Amino acid sequence: MKKYDIAIIGAGCSGLSLAHRLLNSNINVCILESGNRENRIRKTWSYWDIYQHPFASLESNSLNNIYCINNSLPIKLNCDKHNYKSIDSQQFDKYIFEKIDASENIDIFFNAPADDLIAEDKGIQIKSSNNIYRVKEVYDSRPDNIDAPMYQVFLGYYINPISSTDKIMPRLMDFTQDKEFSFYYVIPFKDNSCLVEYTFFTPTIHTSDELKKTLDSYIEDTIGQYNLIRSEYGVIPMTPKLPALDSLKNVHKIGIRSGATRASTGYTFLNIQKQSEFFAKKIRGINSKNPLLTIKAKVLRKMDGILLRIIKNEPKQAKHIIFKMFTSNNHQTIIRFLSDIPSIFDILRIIINMPKIIFIKYAIKSLINRKI
Ligand SMILES: Cc1cc2nc3c(=O)[nH]c(=O)nc-3n(C[C@H](O)[C@H](O)[C@H](O)COP(=O)(O)OP(=O)(O)OC[C@H]3O[C@@H](n4cnc5c(N)ncnc54)[C@H](O)[C@@H]3O)c2cc1C
Repeated sequence: MKKYDIAIIGAGCSGLSLAHRLLNSNINVCILESGNRENRIRKTWSYWDIYQHPFASLESNSLNNIYCINNSLPIKLNCDKHNYKSIDSQQFDKYIFEKIDASENIDIFFNAPADDLIAEDKGIQIKSSNNIYRVKEVYDSRPDNIDAPMYQVFLGYYINPISSTDKIMPRLMDFTQDKEFSFYYVIPFKDNSCLVEYTFFTPTIHTSDELKKTLDSYIEDTIGQYNLIRSEYGVIPMTPKLPALDSLKNVHKIGIRSGATRASTGYTFLNIQKQSEFFAKKIRGINSKNPLLTIKAKVLRKMDGILLRIIKNEPKQAKHIIFKMFTSNNHQTIIRFLSDIPSIFDILRIIINMPKIIFIKYAIKSLINRKI
């Protein structure tokens, strides 16, 4: 049996971000990860540079413009003030693993799935296949079966285009003309590689095979010939509802499991960073506000609920709304809104500039029936 102050379950983005903030403190931490150290799922986390986090040195890409395209009409989002940045999760893992290896207060165990959590008098007992851990508090990022009304389903290719990426237009959303709410996402990187993704916001989960043909032909049409570096397929639950607190006292959900994903966009990385800062302070006995529970966060979740309803029921109108948001708002307002850090004035501006009838129609529907 091993004893620690704190256990972090899952060495993914949220588990490692929290661990990083507890490095070299007087808190003894164990991280239990079900997977192994070598075969990690590699992702690229992108976000606007609008919130200070400890991983700025890992940012491998920085864009000062990104476009939203509907019916071949591109609208530029000026990101001069808050660049659109990316971090490769492989670099993130390497950076944090090295710090944990050198630390005196954090142990990381791979191939150590947390199977069972049991409440005890003075804390929690965690049963893993090869050990038992006794801790005071648990921070749990194991994926939950979140029952979501919509999912963000995407297939992305990291490619090396044969011609230079200099002329490739970065695209946040290049809308397709499909019935559903679907779009392409294109991020050219400095090393002349490029990420091209085909994304659906959908109540039904599409397999990667279903997305492949359309993605292949989009790349052929817009970029031409390329060498495939690797592909990624993801399904992110999108729900404006916060998951219930864990039934065990002293067990805190973190990451996607805790509702850190922005329901209407899928962006999660910055919320995970805000959440890690909050929990690291709490663990050290410093008072601060849980970023997922502020009044602003609640208002945004309500708005996301309305937007998800529109996306689900009237996808064409939803595209129009997104496009209108890009054309009628100040770029800083849009960036703060999409990054989950809007001011009250930003929220008001976004609402005022929405197409009124459809927004009010679905706002009323969400008051009458909470289920999307
Ligand atoms: C392909 C992809 C691209 C994304 N891109 C972006 C982006 O550009 N911007 C953005 O903001 N967000 C993005 N996201 C969303 C989000 O930021 C990431 O999914 C992020 O990795 C979520 O972190 P997490 O800690 O909640 O979950 P994870 O990173 O999945 O971590 C959970 C960990 O728990 C481990 N685990 C599972 N079960 C157990 C168990 N029983 N015991 C112990 N360990 C266990 C898993 O092996 C995993 O390591 C993306 C998601 C995906 C899938």
